[in-house]
Amino acid sequence: MTGTVTTPLLAKIKQHIADHGPMTIAQYMNLCLSDPKHGYYMTQQPFGTKGDFTTAPEISQLFGELIGAWLLHQWISQDLKDPIQLVEIGPGRGTLMKDILRVISLRPQMLAQTQIHLVETSPSLRKVQKKQLKAYEIKWHDNLQNIPKGPTLLVANELFDALPIHQYQLTDTGWRERCVGLNDDQELAIGIGSGTLSPVDVAKANLQAKLGDTLEVSPASNAIASSIAQRIKENGGAALVIDYGYSKTATGDSFQAMKSHEYVSVLEHCGEADLTAHVNFQALANAAKAEGAHAHGPIGQGDFLLALGLLERAGQLGAGKSTLDQDQIRKDVERLAAPDKMGTLFKVLCLTASAIQPIPFNS
Ligand code: SAH
Repeated sequence: MTGTVTTPLLAKIKQHIADHGPMTIAQYMNLCLSDPKHGYYMTQQPFGTKGDFTTAPEISQLFGELIGAWLLHQWISQDLKDPIQLVEIGPGRGTLMKDILRVISLRPQMLAQTQIHLVETSPSLRKVQKKQLKAYEIKWHDNLQNIPKGPTLLVANELFDALPIHQYQLTDTGWRERCVGLNDDQELAIGIGSGTLSPVDVAKANLQAKLGDTLEVSPASNAIASSIAQRIKENGGAALVIDYGYSKTATGDSFQAMKSHEYVSVLEHCGEADLTAHVNFQALANAAKAEGAHAHGPIGQGDFLLALGLLERAGQLGAGKSTLDQDQIRKDVERLAAPDKMGTLFKVLCLTASAIQPIPFNS
């Protein structure tokens, strides 16, 4: 059954559909995640064992430390000049930035040259970040536009999967947009709407699609990739985009909902479940290249972390600890890097201004 859990947002969405007709999946996702009053990121505490999902930085400090080491390496190898703008988009609980800053602090000269910026749309998560990062001077932003000029080191972990997608289905009358409407019982249901996919988008996707196949596109994601690339192109530096998704455009329905670490129906818990879709890394890379930036990868998260010394750092972290702690570290390493865990599905894309070969994307 769908649409059975009554939430404040469900009533609002049903009313909207009654007044205006079916809404696109993107509109539905946007309302569920970002409605100012009832949206998931505005009202819930999504992360950790008590939340709905766990992200890499919440699994282990090893993740953020290795990202921090990579950023430090960019500072040195690209000889980035003062002031460096360190930017995270979608910082969640602020854990990744905290771990990054602990590593950067090992080079006080870099820390002194670094201005820290968090791009976050959720007021409640901003509060959590403020608390977690109280030792540092931080500026918050709604988008990248007002961040001062300067070489930019930017990270976004599990941001893009949370951005709205449109879904199109190949029917005998061509690609039609999938929409959320109401069925005869006045429950939410997904059906085929009247919107079509432009022939240009179809050609760009270069797909071998068959009847019934679904194609997902995310203009919101591509727009953020463009603005990251623009910034890197103009100011120098590098960006890392880490997320789960696919390297090349492909058909498939990846729209999903998670609540308390279980998959649930995307229509069932409006505003109270996390809604995501897999990230199309090819589309992000193309958007970045269109701005003149260079895209590297994506490579698997496992390969990325192992190349940066995941095992060595884990050994160091576990040295002198109890067997219980060492076992936990081993489990965390496996979860982050094993091919059947986060090692392959999660990928890392790097954007740079010029044709350098950043490690470990050059191997
Ligand atoms: N990076 C964190 C959190 C991932 S969850 C981690 O790895 O743990 C997604 C984060 O992106 C949340 O902080 C959410 O509020 C934020 N977010 C969602 N849409 C956004 C947007 N358009 N711009 C900036 N942040 C956004």
